[in-house]
Amino acid sequence: MAEKEYIERAALLAEYDRVHVGPPGGARKLIEEAPAADVVEVVHGEWEEKYKIIPLYGDKHLRGTFPVCSKCGFIHAAEASVPLNYCPNCGAKMDRKENRE
Ligand SMILES: [Zn+2]
Repeated sequence: MAEKEYIERAALLAEYDRVHVGPPGGARKLIEEAPAADVVEVVHGEWEEKYKIIPLYGDKHLRGTFPVCSKCGFIHAAEASVPLNYCPNCGAKMDRKENRE
């Protein structure tokens, strides 16, 4: 099944006004009146390998290089060999590097 896509109404209206010639047609009214979906904006980030000293208990510390969220600084200190594809703290989707290509 295809993924749903969402359109930003203000941007679509601006583009309509930019390219449309003549008096506004029915399409503009349709865009203005279409129901809005309740959508959360996706934040993109990446795991950055950083040296961290994590306090445990007493004077115990965990030292090492851990994946750190580029958006909120959350340290992915779980013993998973592959870090999660999202940040459990801020919800960032960890795909920024792939999108940069
Ligand atoms: Zn985060």
